[in-house]
Amino acid sequence: MTLDQTRLRIAIQKSGRLSKECQRMLKGCGVKLNLREQRLIAHAENMPIDLLLVRDDDIPGLVMDGVVDLGVVGENVLEETLMERQAQGEAADYSVLKRLDFGGCRLSLAVSQDADYSGVNSLEGKRIATSYPWLLKRYMDSQGVKFKSVMLNGSVEVAPRAGVADAICDLVSTGATLEANGLVETDVIFRSKAVLIQSATPLAASKQAVIDRLLPRIQGLQQARE
Ligand code: ATP
Ligand code: ZN
Repeated sequence: MTLDQTRLRIAIQKSGRLSKECQRMLKGCGVKLNLREQRLIAHAENMPIDLLLVRDDDIPGLVMDGVVDLGVVGENVLEETLMERQAQGEAADYSVLKRLDFGGCRLSLAVSQDADYSGVNSLEGKRIATSYPWLLKRYMDSQGVKFKSVMLNGSVEVAPRAGVADAICDLVSTGATLEANGLVETDVIFRSKAVLIQSATPLAASKQAVIDRLLPRIQGLQQARE
């Protein structure tokens, strides 16, 4: 099956913290979705829109490579991908159409509750576990603190207890996960929300017309929730 080039392609997270809110937003915009399990593509029934259901980490790249027209992703993942791609000399253009009112979280440093911590300088030369090495490095460089990055794509919060790292840099919303793992949040290094982003590839007028219909509806939904 090939993608119909005339339909607006939007990448959203298949399952995770952003997927329910994304689907609610699209539904609120009047997009009728036929979301069957285990499908990469879902076609809207009443508008020329195709959804790509993928891992959130893949969304910025799909937009920056022009594989999809729009994407919904956390600014944390967007900014991390941007820095990584710029460092590797890969295409990294996109524009933010709208900052959304969900997916709020912060990327923070945290240390063990019984660690001797008196500011970020305490982490000089230490090992920090994270899934966000570029955002972490940018912050530590800005503070003039040298450290060793331990890359983990999951279970970051258990790294100190496992003796794999001295501190972590991970996403936090309530702080309950940190507390459950005997950790305390010390420094917020990045604040994030979900954003709607658009590819830098020029769009056909028919696709632009669909975006022009969606955006005011998203705006209306957000105002109604304020
Ligand atoms: P995937 O399988 O798609 O890779 P994931 O496990 O990487 O999923 P989720 O945990 O579903 O990702 O988080 C997706 C996004 O939700 C995060 O990148 C972030 O922008 C946002 N988010 C909001 N609150 C939190 C939180 N407390 N912890 C983690 N992410 C959060
Ligand atoms: Zn992910």
